[in-house]
Amino acid sequence: MEEEVKRLNFLEEIIEDDLKSGKVESILTRFPPEPNGYLHLGHAKSLCINFGLAQKYGGKTNLRYDDTNPTKEDTEYVDAIKEDIKWLGFQWEKECYASDYFDQLYEWAEWMIQQGLAYVDDQTQEEMRENRGTVETPGKNSPWRDRTPEENLKLFREMRDGKYADGEKVLRAKIDMAHPKMEFRDPIMYRIKHAHHHRTGDKWCIYPMYDYTHGQSDSIEHITHSICTLEFDVHRPLYDWYIKTLGIYPSHQYEFARLNLTYTLMSKRKLLELVQKGIVSGWDDPRMPTLCGVRRRGYTAEALKMFCDKIGVTKHDQLMDIQLLEWCVRQDLNARSNRYMVVQDPIKVRLANWPAGQIEWFDCPLNPAEPEGATRKVPFTGELYIDRADFMEDAPNKFFRLKPNGEVRLKYTYIIKCNKVVKDCNNNVIELECTYDPTTKPGGGEWRSVKGTIHWVSTDFAREIELRNYDRLFTLADMSQVPEDKDYKDFLNPDSLTLGRGWAEPALLDDASGIAVQFERTGYYIKDADSTKEKTVFNKTVSLKDSYKPE
Ligand code: ATP
Ligand code: MG
Repeated sequence: MEEEVKRLNFLEEIIEDDLKSGKVESILTRFPPEPNGYLHLGHAKSLCINFGLAQKYGGKTNLRYDDTNPTKEDTEYVDAIKEDIKWLGFQWEKECYASDYFDQLYEWAEWMIQQGLAYVDDQTQEEMRENRGTVETPGKNSPWRDRTPEENLKLFREMRDGKYADGEKVLRAKIDMAHPKMEFRDPIMYRIKHAHHHRTGDKWCIYPMYDYTHGQSDSIEHITHSICTLEFDVHRPLYDWYIKTLGIYPSHQYEFARLNLTYTLMSKRKLLELVQKGIVSGWDDPRMPTLCGVRRRGYTAEALKMFCDKIGVTKHDQLMDIQLLEWCVRQDLNARSNRYMVVQDPIKVRLANWPAGQIEWFDCPLNPAEPEGATRKVPFTGELYIDRADFMEDAPNKFFRLKPNGEVRLKYTYIIKCNKVVKDCNNNVIELECTYDPTTKPGGGEWRSVKGTIHWVSTDFAREIELRNYDRLFTLADMSQVPEDKDYKDFLNPDSLTLGRGWAEPALLDDASGIAVQFERTGYYIKDADSTKEKTVFNKTVSLKDSYKPE
């Protein structure tokens, strides 16, 4: 047997070293979403890494809302994020909010002011930008930089008490306006924002900046490994500086490559725009890369985790092929999903020798991988639908489905033969007159094989359903390559949703598996919540086959 030896990824190496050397006793990671949108596939990668590492090394993971931007955040998002994480099968240790630390962060800011490490700056945004310098040239000190700690403290308290308007003043760390790293040129710690916060209400009108919040929040919770995406590496020195300056628990930050997927956008800001402009039906539109969207599409948590496992953890940005994700979805559903027959473009088949009014019920496996497993009952009668694509009048030799004077097996049942083609006045085939061979019933007598097997439904029992067939939302493979003179919305796929109809065997409507089902020989579909008593709606999850093979 071939044994798969999996190499450790760079985060696992770091953690194993830290555990071995005794630097940490056990690990505590965190997942830090900003509650300003729904989680997407990129977040799934971050979740799998943070929770996955904790699980592997017997540690824990906190859920921490990074809620320092009151105007963009909402409890709707807070709730949706929890639901999505649970759906993926992860359980956080503590539910935390950066806003829980506002008092502590404020106290630390006062302490820094008293130490001469922070000052209130009255410059406008414009002035601050101008005086910041460039990578080549040093910045200029603010005229307010040398205020005394007493004056700074008084002004900062006035900022807190609402004496000033938005943008009138900021609190800045006093580091070095000529520092080679731009992030160290007196970074802003607090800005004034008279805005209602979804948790702290109107208590605050000053809010801490990301850099002044994130490391300290990690430290307060004693996060051992603070894992984020590569674009945060420029923030790391400042992260370390605040922790060191304040002399608090030394959390450390590590960065990995974010997930980019072909034909997919994963910026919350743009996804929000698609929702607000009505380009999609909502955050959970099945074409959206959000977790609620792919869930409604029929993707499973297991498939997503399989995908995250396959793409691994690296330090180089790369564009992953969405076909790998679809492959994972197929793998998982193939093993687990129930099978049903659905005809989408019907032609009627009439069996001339079937006894009038007779109904025969076949016990068919719900999943062929478990032949001894559960079955569904499928009714067979003298009038059936087959798919138009399974019949050809002038068929080449290699066409092994139904053709005039040819034979085919109806899946799970008899072999039939086509004797006559009935057409309307426009020469369209409307009905096939056939006969069935009663000696070919599976399990009875000798097995006679024919080359083709097709799916079918009894017209008497067929249940009409609505189908929503989805395709990629965008036509551009690498959505980071939208040309300057274009907008990402110029690459929307006009055919990303097409409606269809289907005629299903009756058992489909009673399926209670809760996951996508396979329409035999066609694809995977999942019942949508838009279904009513009158109309059952199915979303296409993914087609059955694809030439794609993972490396
Ligand atoms: P977006 O850019 O889509 O708005 P974000 O980074 O602002 O995403 P956050 O809510 O701040 O979203 O992200 C929470 C965590 O998820 C962060 O640690 C972030 O690094 C990670 N994350 C976000 N997008 C991706 C991605 N595409 N791949 C992997 N991790 C991601
Ligand atoms: Mg963010």
